[in-house]
Amino acid sequence: MSPRPRVSLLVRVTAALLGPSLLVAVPATAQLRVVTTIPDFAAITRELGGSRVTAEALVKGSQDPHFADARPSMILAANRAQLLVVAGLGLESGWLPVVMTQARNPSIQLGARGYLDASQVVQLRDVVARADRAMGDVHGGGNPHFYTSPAELHRVAKAIHARLVELDPEGRATYDAGWTQFDARYRTKTAGWLQRLAPLKGTAIVEYHKSWVYFLAWSGIRGVGALEPKPGIPPSPAHVAKLLAQVAPLGVKQVWQEVYQPQSLSKLFAQRSGATLLILPSMVGALPGTDTIWAKFDRMVDAIAPR
Ligand SMILES: [Zn+2]
Repeated sequence: MSPRPRVSLLVRVTAALLGPSLLVAVPATAQLRVVTTIPDFAAITRELGGSRVTAEALVKGSQDPHFADARPSMILAANRAQLLVVAGLGLESGWLPVVMTQARNPSIQLGARGYLDASQVVQLRDVVARADRAMGDVHGGGNPHFYTSPAELHRVAKAIHARLVELDPEGRATYDAGWTQFDARYRTKTAGWLQRLAPLKGTAIVEYHKSWVYFLAWSGIRGVGALEPKPGIPPSPAHVAKLLAQVAPLGVKQVWQEVYQPQSLSKLFAQRSGATLLILPSMVGALPGTDTIWAKFDRMVDAIAPR
């Protein structure tokens, strides 16, 4: 009897003993675990990585990312992550440092390859010479809401793609295919959105919070003021009255705000100025049916430029 059947038998026995546990263990360890602060980055990561990645966002699209609370579930997710994608510019500075410290995961700390600050690849807006956080301005380092622009999210997607390849080189074919598909879809969708929005170029709108400056720059729609006197400072009746007088000659057509902001003063402003109040999904998942960045921008464009 040659040794070969005996080896086969041994292999078969071993496989029978270990088989079920291997079947459970392999997919879990093979997937790259990505955690992102906002849901847009997680949605992009899923499109790029497919089943090779798991991507989880720490905040919901219906939550104000400036003022989230560091929760145990966030710390657990960050502890297990191999890549952490953040918006940066202080957007998450109220809660993310606690999550990162308590996660005790060296792979995702500042400077590690598992830490990606998306603002590094963005064309920044509202950069001020002197940050005045003491006065409540939460946009001191530049406006962090670049995820309201398709063009900026396209840059971020490219950076996420590069980092996925770097951290998981064996998955390059998957990530490259994901990127090609993402890029093609971006081009088709963007052409459609810009065509719909073209007639609104130059139209005056007022924002509640300065969340839309990147979208405004991308679309050519004109932001003429914000209900918040400074980013992060709630609107006061006095400021709203002053703004009304200021923008009256401009013919404001719309007031834009996010799902998580109170609506009483926006409604009042819209009523007095003759504008329409729009509650827009600034992030993926902010409204039902906006689970991808495509669906999010579709919804925004439908609201801003109804057919
Ligand atoms: Zn903000």
